[in-house]
Amino acid sequence: MFYKGTKKENKSNSEGAAPIKECPSCGFMQHTRKVKCESCGHDFEEERIKQQKEEQQQKLYLLVRDNPINIPTDKIYAIAEERGWKEYAVLHKITEHIANYQKKYFNIVTDDYSNKIAMEELQKWCSKYSKKNNKWHREFMLRLLDTKREVK
Ligand SMILES: [Zn+2]
Repeated sequence: MFYKGTKKENKSNSEGAAPIKECPSCGFMQHTRKVKCESCGHDFEEERIKQQKEEQQQKLYLLVRDNPINIPTDKIYAIAEERGWKEYAVLHKITEHIANYQKKYFNIVTDDYSNKIAMEELQKWCSKYSKKNNKWHREFMLRLLDTKREVK
């Protein structure tokens, strides 16, 4: 999309035709600026937020399908063994990958989604090192992810 200078104003607007929208609930036509339907009180804002959420989910769905997160877990485990890293250093590394993925696709990947990935990775980590996937570990990992998200 190109912006031609500052003349973004639509011509039809300046000619007097008010932009209108139709209420999905009762069909009443009204100005697009209305927050609630003049006729039946339908909440357009709620509608807009719902739509935004659906679009967000659609974007995330496509991202996960076309560009899923790729954590080189096997390599990380191998390096850890080679260099004698502690188990928790591995968890740090994995969490960094998740945070980076979220930063890269910051307008698509939600906290909920990256938390979900973190929990899946924690499960694998627990199996690898014979740790218990308990509340303490889950909270530890989510806190870790929170701090990594904040690192710019
Ligand atoms: Zn209405």
